[in-house]
Amino acid sequence: MPSSHFDYIVIGAGSMGVSACFHLAVRGCQVLGIEQFAIPHELGSHTGWTRIIRKAYFEHPDYVPLLQRAYHNIRLMEAEYGQPLYLQTGLLYAGPPGCHVLGGVRQSAALHSIPLETLSVEETRARFPQFCLPAHYEVLFEPEAGLLLAEQVICAYAQKARHAGAVLHEHEHVQFWSLHKDMVRVQTSRAEYTCHKLVISAGAWSGRLIPGIDNKLNVTRQVLAWFRPTKACSFAVGQMPCWLIAIEGVAGSYYGFPLLPASMQAGPEGIKVAHHHPGQLCQLDAVERRISEADVAHLQAFANQYLGGVHGAPVEAKTCLYSNSPDDHFVVGTLPHTEGRVCAAWGFSGHGFKFVPVMGEILADLAMQGHTLLPVGFLEAKRLGIA
Ligand SMILES: Cc1cc2nc3c(=O)[nH]c(=O)nc-3n(C[C@H](O)[C@H](O)[C@H](O)COP(=O)(O)OP(=O)(O)OC[C@H]3O[C@@H](n4cnc5c(N)ncnc54)[C@H](O)[C@@H]3O)c2cc1C
Repeated sequence: MPSSHFDYIVIGAGSMGVSACFHLAVRGCQVLGIEQFAIPHELGSHTGWTRIIRKAYFEHPDYVPLLQRAYHNIRLMEAEYGQPLYLQTGLLYAGPPGCHVLGGVRQSAALHSIPLETLSVEETRARFPQFCLPAHYEVLFEPEAGLLLAEQVICAYAQKARHAGAVLHEHEHVQFWSLHKDMVRVQTSRAEYTCHKLVISAGAWSGRLIPGIDNKLNVTRQVLAWFRPTKACSFAVGQMPCWLIAIEGVAGSYYGFPLLPASMQAGPEGIKVAHHHPGQLCQLDAVERRISEADVAHLQAFANQYLGGVHGAPVEAKTCLYSNSPDDHFVVGTLPHTEGRVCAAWGFSGHGFKFVPVMGEILADLAMQGHTLLPVGFLEAKRLGIA
């Protein structure tokens, strides 16, 4: 009979959860990771094959030390896994003068000495003719930014967690957990388990597992679309960077990725385009997965206008979920009233994936020691009145 008691249980083996399982297992802990779907899957927040990783963080400079650690950790994982997980493509930022994205990028780059180039629109046109930008736009280029192969990253962490002794269960749903004198009980669709400490990394489903946060977490349906440019070779990695473009009068920003090399192409073929801004609020049990023309109309309008040689409708589109905290910053820490036995990470608000390599380390520190030396004080739940 397999044991039903573990040192640590991780609920949700998606982006952050597999990394937590890995970091706990390599420290010699007995870990069970429980995932309600497959590892990875297309129903949560990690679908779509690629994610941007960047250091000149416009959202807040306090994220930069965590990103420096994430870059370090992903390199280690890549070496261990033996296959590419990160591609350094550079990232082009563009927007109208005074836009907050460019201001935030400049601020983080200056504070943390992150290489950043300023380009004029003419220089951009000469270097990256794929973009059609208005003449008055400002352009910045972060050469050390790039993309993570998201599903590959999850597979790598899951594989290496298992090698280190973690037990990962797929297609098992956690129904509830409860705190007892010297342990935590976890009831799933298959069995009851006990553990010394619990980690919750349940993404869009966090509100069902963490008491008191239901009204602090908005889940939105996001749409990603892939377009096939007429001259594919000039949109390939090596020819064109990732990009993030703010448009005058439009909330959020559009962003996208170059064509991946054929050897890495496991998702849809084409350049991926999306809009970084909370989409439609949705109910978890009734997410509309079918894509309508209206869903992709603004992505198509953006791609046709701002990317030269991209015409017509997308060749493929998918949905993905954002789980948004009230201030769009992550929430990480030990849950109140759990005597330090339960920690959680939630509210990644559409920009969390690049932190996967460091968030697992943080969760492992919190679960094992009750604190972490990594600077996450600014992400504590108490700023949201949760205590
Ligand atoms: C369209 C889109 C584009 C994005 N682009 C970027 C980007 O370019 N760069 C970037 O850094 N970030 C990006 N993000 C954000 C990033 O992908 C997310 O922040 C990150 O994946 C969130 O990780 P998570 O672990 O919280 O959620 P998930 O990866 O969804 O993992 C949570 C897991 O918990 C499981 N679970 C939940 N409840 C239970 C239960 N009761 N029992 C068992 N299992 C359970 C779920 O099935 C899921 O697998 C993007 C997100 C989207 C949707």
